[in-house]
Amino acid sequence: MIQKRRRVCIQLCNCLVKEYHRVKRCFRCQRIGHLQFRCKETPRCSRCSEEHVNECSNEPKCINCEDRNACLAENLETSHVPNSGKCASYITALSLIKEGNDPWIIPAHLTNRPEIASIHTE
Ligand SMILES: [Zn+2]
Ligand SMILES: [Zn+2]
Ligand SMILES: [Zn+2]
Repeated sequence: MIQKRRRVCIQLCNCLVKEYHRVKRCFRCQRIGHLQFRCKETPRCSRCSEEHVNECSNEPKCINCEDRNACLAENLETSHVPNSGKCASYITALSLIKEGNDPWIIPAHLTNRPEIASIHTE
């Protein structure tokens, strides 16, 4: 009985871990679309997305939703930390993956800021 229950737990945990890792999120610059070992960007705060890494007392702000607002003329809520589960960019990436598509990126032809497009297509 105990063994059986443990197996269910392991399966569930494996599944959650898998899903989590499928959305690439950079712990260095906080952006979705690549991992930190491929990152050529300036390190950013995991709370306010500004270019600092020391302790932060700023309001939370999400660089991914900011990018989308800037590039795709969207109007997303940006007052959350970049690794928030309620981040609209993260949710989009997750649903794209579930549908079997590539994780969310900003296509180069949709942005007038090529430096952002290159970050997301790394
Ligand atoms: Zn990065
Ligand atoms: Zn900060
Ligand atoms: Zn966001």
